[in-house]
Amino acid sequence: MQRDATMPLETSLSQMLSSSDFGNFFGISQEVQDLVWRNLTEKEGNSVAYISMEIGADPDVYSPLAKKLRDLQVTESSQSNIQGFLKKIFYGPGKIPNYSGGLGILAGDTLKSFADCHLPVVAVSLLYRHGYFSQIVDSQLGQLSQRVDWNPEDTPGLYLLRDPQQPEKPLHIEVPFLNEYDQETVATAQVWMKIEVSEALDFFIPELLLDFFLPETPALIRNAAKQLYDSESSMVKALQRRMLGTGILPVLQALGITSRTFHLNEQHGVVVAMQLIAEELYRTLKANDLACATNAQILTAASTVAQRIVYTIHTPVKAGHDRFDKSLYAGISHKSCQRILDLLARDDDNPHTYNFTNFAMQVNRSANSVSRLHRDVTHKQFPQFADKITAITNGVHHLTWISDARAAVFDTIPELQGWRQDPGVFKTVAQLKNNQEFRSALLDAWRKDTHILFDFVNTMLRQHRSQMTQTWIDPPNYYSSLIDHITKLNPDIFTIGFARRFSTYKRADLIFHDIDKLADIFVSNNWPVNFFFAGKAHPADEPGKTVIRLILGHQEELHKKSKGLANLIFIPNYDMAIAKMLVAGVHAWLNSPKRPLEASGTSGMKAAMNGVPNISIMDGWWAEGHHNGETGWKFGHEGNVSIENLSESREELLYKEDSNSFYNLLPSVLEDFYRDRTHSAFLDKGIMNLCRNIPIFNTHRMAAEYLKKYDLQLPAEIKTKMQSFAQLYSSDS
Ligand SMILES: *Cc1c(COP(=O)(O)O)cnc(C)c1O
Repeated sequence: MQRDATMPLETSLSQMLSSSDFGNFFGISQEVQDLVWRNLTEKEGNSVAYISMEIGADPDVYSPLAKKLRDLQVTESSQSNIQGFLKKIFYGPGKIPNYSGGLGILAGDTLKSFADCHLPVVAVSLLYRHGYFSQIVDSQLGQLSQRVDWNPEDTPGLYLLRDPQQPEKPLHIEVPFLNEYDQETVATAQVWMKIEVSEALDFFIPELLLDFFLPETPALIRNAAKQLYDSESSMVKALQRRMLGTGILPVLQALGITSRTFHLNEQHGVVVAMQLIAEELYRTLKANDLACATNAQILTAASTVAQRIVYTIHTPVKAGHDRFDKSLYAGISHKSCQRILDLLARDDDNPHTYNFTNFAMQVNRSANSVSRLHRDVTHKQFPQFADKITAITNGVHHLTWISDARAAVFDTIPELQGWRQDPGVFKTVAQLKNNQEFRSALLDAWRKDTHILFDFVNTMLRQHRSQMTQTWIDPPNYYSSLIDHITKLNPDIFTIGFARRFSTYKRADLIFHDIDKLADIFVSNNWPVNFFFAGKAHPADEPGKTVIRLILGHQEELHKKSKGLANLIFIPNYDMAIAKMLVAGVHAWLNSPKRPLEASGTSGMKAAMNGVPNISIMDGWWAEGHHNGETGWKFGHEGNVSIENLSESREELLYKEDSNSFYNLLPSVLEDFYRDRTHSAFLDKGIMNLCRNIPIFNTHRMAAEYLKKYDLQLPAEIKTKMQSFAQLYSSDS
């Protein structure tokens, strides 16, 4: 889609139009449209369906199409159909609030890499009319959640699929359910498709989002579909899982997609395995009722289906594993399904519940954990499956998370040529460690990103100050009560970032455990410091919300005890755009979970991609990314992990031990930072992050490792490229 100089703009825009049986699309050529559908609908089923409860891929953070249009200096078109698409891209909402955190963003990053690598993959998820939730923060009350209303209709890259038989109507799929009166019913969904387009606009991954919020869908189900991880009741939770799991086969069938392999991103969609087992039984027994199937026949069918499933387990934390009361589940599924669950979803701890993790563990060809340490923990949690659980360490999509300023530097370095296509290119960057030109360009880019972040934060603080007088919300920043219209936080001051979901095991408040000790470090050396914190707690997670209140409560105390040297700022409503600004703009990225509960963690990888060093507990990815201190700092408890370490009770979260370890480390970090104006020790670590961590913690490499678990035939050229990515790292050693 390179525009040659002689080609009129309108012609090159027309080449971005394409259509299929399901509608008209903008951003990819007809050739690409046809290629993707040919791959997904071919007879042998040579493709993968990637199943996730959430997908995080906000267009305001990454949109190759918008970038292309800006490069072409397109702002409008005389063709009205194209003009409609352009309007959405330039003026539509930049956010798709269908994610809550790490799991969803990992899914989005993974799908972007699949697109860049031209892999035949389709994704299936749900569309939530009220998204996750929007966070308001009050200094006294803490987190308040507000419903998000968004219009999929206006969102760029999102299309409501049409019924090929009646193109004026949306495509509807029907999913069998039981209703609240135990009667058989169907839930109807329409299908939105997000086009996750490759960087070069020469491939895409269709993300099919099932939207059950329709008048014809029974109220119980319709209401359960509104909000991601709505935890009003375990019924709502079970219904959401069931909508995803049982929606998969009908939607693929309606689109003619033949995927043989299913990748479960966590066990949320595992109900699809139950359906595949039922289908297999119908096929082999030639029966229309499964009542006649014996247990042995069910187990045989399950082992056939297992060959089609790749499963990623994401957390050792209990709340991440779905368990449902058998009696509750009986209310939403048919008897034959219950027989399958009775055999395969046993819960060793409780005979009255189904354990969906156990189900997913049994029915797969490959079970993968998300880091090496997580693999070791998972082996201990599930000793009966230890033989088959391997590690595929998570990654992030480098093109999404590397800031514009850093990317502009990489573009000018001959040694880094091709970095957009191949993150392995960064392996050689250590050679440039003493190249003064490179160092100063990198430092300038870092400063640029820091200024962008500080402009954002200073504007926010001034808004908080006026909020104080204009609304009933007490602004979430003590600091904003101290400033006037000229005071600002200073970007030359050492700034630590921390942002993630507020769950108690993530211990956001760890470093404030002993504020006297912390403040003394600053006062006795006269070192000023900023702490920028952000993150949402699940609205039903009271302990998580308490941690947010604790953080807010520490703001004044820290400021006063440090004699104004240390300021702790909270940025409300964490999302991908804030994440990107933070990871690129701070001087160090902090992670302080209780080892080994983090499993992987990905925000630290985003910082590493920008050459920002981490200060972290040796948990999750950091145990692999720390490289004996070449890339950052470690603190806290290490040593072997055992089942006992998985406790999440407050007394066993090691606050005292790990915070002390942080206080012992911090002075040397600050000394490094303030030693010279060019922050050379930080820049050294930054360059080593580019060199050692970009080649490992990117989703191209991760996709290549997963590809080995899929059963796919690929053209030689793609195979060779994927092999080269796979060779960047071996997660499971
Ligand atoms: C990356 C990211 C996360 C996940 O971060 P972790 O370090 O894995 O906890 C959560 N939310 C947003 C908005 C992110 O960008």
